[in-house]
Amino acid sequence: MFHAVVGAQYGDEGKGKMVDYLAEKADLVVRYQGGGNAGHTIVNQYGKFALHLVPSGIFHNHTISVLGAGVVLHPQQLVDELTTLEAAGIDTRRLVISERAHMVLPYHIWQDKWEEEQRSKKVGTTLQGIGPAYQDKVGRFGLQVGELRDLHRLRTRLETAFQAKINRIPGLASYGTFDEIWTSLLAARDKLLPYIADTTPLLYEAHQAEKDVLFEGQLGIMRDLDWGVYPFVTSSNPIAGGIGAGAGVPPTAIRRITGITKAYTTAVGEGPFPTQLNDSYGTYLQDKGHEYGATTGRPRACGWLDIPTLRYGAWINGYTELALMKLDVLSGLDQIQVAVRYEKDGTQYEWPLPAYDMELVQPVYETLPGWQEDISDCRTFADLPANAQAFVRQVEAWVGVPVRYVSVGPDRAQTILRGDMETQA
Ligand code: GDP
Repeated sequence: MFHAVVGAQYGDEGKGKMVDYLAEKADLVVRYQGGGNAGHTIVNQYGKFALHLVPSGIFHNHTISVLGAGVVLHPQQLVDELTTLEAAGIDTRRLVISERAHMVLPYHIWQDKWEEEQRSKKVGTTLQGIGPAYQDKVGRFGLQVGELRDLHRLRTRLETAFQAKINRIPGLASYGTFDEIWTSLLAARDKLLPYIADTTPLLYEAHQAEKDVLFEGQLGIMRDLDWGVYPFVTSSNPIAGGIGAGAGVPPTAIRRITGITKAYTTAVGEGPFPTQLNDSYGTYLQDKGHEYGATTGRPRACGWLDIPTLRYGAWINGYTELALMKLDVLSGLDQIQVAVRYEKDGTQYEWPLPAYDMELVQPVYETLPGWQEDISDCRTFADLPANAQAFVRQVEAWVGVPVRYVSVGPDRAQTILRGDMETQA
């Protein structure tokens, strides 16, 4: 079955853990968008890893990991990640990179810095060149990974692309030279060549053979280029609708879509965040949830769970189920607030608004009773305190989607799978 795992909030929901958990059964794990700018943190028997590009299926010996055409990748960053994995004893030969994926080149990183300096209001990018690489892709100046194969042609193409870039943004010339770019690309090329392939037959045959294929989204719906809080968004489409374009599969092939959400909300970077807490509750969630970015180390802003966002994703992404992560972090609170709607100028809104209006909304909260027990050892739904069970059921009712998984800790084993009977309750 083709199964998608997508972020239901602003990213960092714990997709990495769920993909690692679900990849146990998957034949293929496919990334369809994004670059090395958001990290997945995986804790397993090999250790703790912050993966930025390589899909987390790499830890399972029977799983093929795919970087689809919609991904942009920095060659040297990928080489470094592969080297780290190999050093931990992981066989990376089961990685396949689409020849159509685009490369992030050093001048994209320079451009990212340069552009962020020009903006009066920062977008809060991770300055890794992802946005500029997508700009070049759309502008038809980009270089595809498959172009690494022909060295002579590659050099000509890179020279043209670099010159065009400098012509458009002369300020970039002071950041570095063509020779530096060429040398770093050559260093990564030899290592990457064996991984590059046409991924279309791979996915077609997997579908024909009814294999289990997991599509792993990066970030979340609120950072989607079209449906997030533009311009505080990423340059690609993490929503389930991005899978068709980014992986090269028909949308009708995707049968199961799991929305990943924390039991509260976090966001990194700039932009509106209606339920953000600037009080001791916010600090409590940040400390207890270890809310610091896997890639950037930036502290994440924390706030209460936001139902309008989940409801919006339930429609746009078509969730067939939710995974509710980090429920353990809420233990110890007397009361838990949940935003069920927004209000602006006396009007109530059920769904998020564009960023310029989202800045102005006030969340409308409902209060649920908390629980004091440590739940990190709970392994069944019935093990959870009554108030925690009630919280999960209430979220289901508000969003209108069953919560199939409840996560109570970072480890794979700390995952409660709810039985079918119960999710219908
Ligand atoms: P992703 O980008 O969506 O994969 O999110 P990250 O991996 O960056 O962030 C999730 C963080 O929370 C990681 O450090 C995980 O190990 C951790 N984590 C995941 N699920 C749980 C959970 O249920 N409880 C706790 N306490 N930590 C969790």
